[in-house]
Amino acid sequence: MRSSSFPALGLLLSVVVPGLLAGFGPNELSAQERPNIVFFFSDDLTTQSISAYQYGLELPPTPNIDRIANEGMLFENSFCGNSICTPSRCTVVTGLHSHKNGIVNLAGALDPERPTWPKALHNGGYTTAIFGKWHMKTKPTGFDEWAVLSGQGSYYNPDFYFSNGESRRIEGHSTDVVTDLALDWLSRRDTSKPFALMVQHKAPHRNCKPSLRELELYRDIKFPEPPTLFDDYEGRVAAASHKMGIDGHMRMASDLMMFSNEEDLGVISRFTPAQKKGYIAAFAEENAAFLANPPTGKDLVRWKYQRYMQNYLRCVAGVDRNVGRVLDELDKAGLSDNTIVVYCADQGFYLGEHGWFDKRWAYEESLKMPLIVRWPGKVKPGTRCAAMVQNIDYAPTFLEAAGVSLDWDVHGISLMPLLTSGGATPDGWRDTIYYRYIDGGHGVAQHSAIRTNDFKLLYFDRPRSEAEEKSRWELFDLENDPQEMTNLATDAAYAVKLKSMQDRFQATRELYDDTDESVWQPGAGKRYPPETYIRPPRRR
Ligand code: CA
Repeated sequence: MRSSSFPALGLLLSVVVPGLLAGFGPNELSAQERPNIVFFFSDDLTTQSISAYQYGLELPPTPNIDRIANEGMLFENSFCGNSICTPSRCTVVTGLHSHKNGIVNLAGALDPERPTWPKALHNGGYTTAIFGKWHMKTKPTGFDEWAVLSGQGSYYNPDFYFSNGESRRIEGHSTDVVTDLALDWLSRRDTSKPFALMVQHKAPHRNCKPSLRELELYRDIKFPEPPTLFDDYEGRVAAASHKMGIDGHMRMASDLMMFSNEEDLGVISRFTPAQKKGYIAAFAEENAAFLANPPTGKDLVRWKYQRYMQNYLRCVAGVDRNVGRVLDELDKAGLSDNTIVVYCADQGFYLGEHGWFDKRWAYEESLKMPLIVRWPGKVKPGTRCAAMVQNIDYAPTFLEAAGVSLDWDVHGISLMPLLTSGGATPDGWRDTIYYRYIDGGHGVAQHSAIRTNDFKLLYFDRPRSEAEEKSRWELFDLENDPQEMTNLATDAAYAVKLKSMQDRFQATRELYDDTDESVWQPGAGKRYPPETYIRPPRRR
């Protein structure tokens, strides 16, 4: 490999060839020793909203997710490689960054033939299943059983598509229904094999519609505002044109349940009459107060922020409650001791930081991914790991844990040395992570980035204006400016640092074979035969 050409990148096993990780194989672990895997995955559930992370805003507790952290390891520096749903999901299952896994943006579909860790586990003797939000368009492959939403799916009374060819609407809230399906499978799985179960929630993705069970939460709580809620984007030219601001782009009815007329109730038209009644009643008093004396200007932004946080965090509370249901069931069934429990989400999200409610950017809040792993006997309880890890690492990790050979090229590194280290970062661990966003949605400029332990460099490769042309680089000192408000790329005092980060950026692009900027453009993605899709794509 190219490892000798840029030693500054730290651990240079980031790109592996088949066999390089051949220190383990299917015969090394007996069937009884092979751990089960429960993989909890949420959509847009950010680290700031998990109390175990304890940084950023002080928000309500998530006791069940925290339980996984208390009994396992929390990764403090876990990142995605492309902060948007479908691409991150593809990286999670393949171990490859977007430019090599076939999905660069939301238009992409997972190649059914592509190797993934669930498929490798299935071929290696595991019984496998996925329930909930898959969001990669083609039917899941490598699973004994699946029931998934199509695309984004619905919060209420979602339509599910099943591996046996059926599809049907299931009444209830999606977070509860996904858990019901997962627990049902767990109770009737093939117990002669170890299992891998993916429990993948839609919540708390926009437009947040909490379960009726969580609607009364946080009614009288005033959440702390992030210090950057009214960011003016000085020195960060591209950020100023983002179109997912709480101020300018949050919709009163569909995003905030502000029902001011009959037409607004269209956003809950899918609900049953009883669900509808519960929703209208829950927001009635507050909505009437708003309409009687509507706030304006910054007061309106603050009102929207509070309503957004209430509904987002109610959705998070629903996920947390359902994580608890599964943990309890593992306990009851005597499975907890030999089951790796992983909690993560497809990317981070802005809870008002920089005035936003979105992802996409390489700035910290959306670059970070929650990652918490419990594995009794292997992972020391209550440990926190500061090493930089990325969603490219999951495939090699799970396969090593299961004693299944990795037989395709991946960009990631097995996290096993971290999981078994008691929280210490092994010598030579990676010191740089790579990021590239290509989608272009919601006014977010195409960009790529590297992050080290203390600095971050962003590169905007397709400037959309003269001002952006002059501001193609952003450099942040993460220790002294954790909110990334001061772009040092134009500060002469940081010229040497900028140059060294640019060199490192180039070396990282070379490491991952991603230097050809001419292919850095959104596209419709490869199409597959219609029968491979969960729902056949519309004809172009
Ligand atoms: Ca997402």
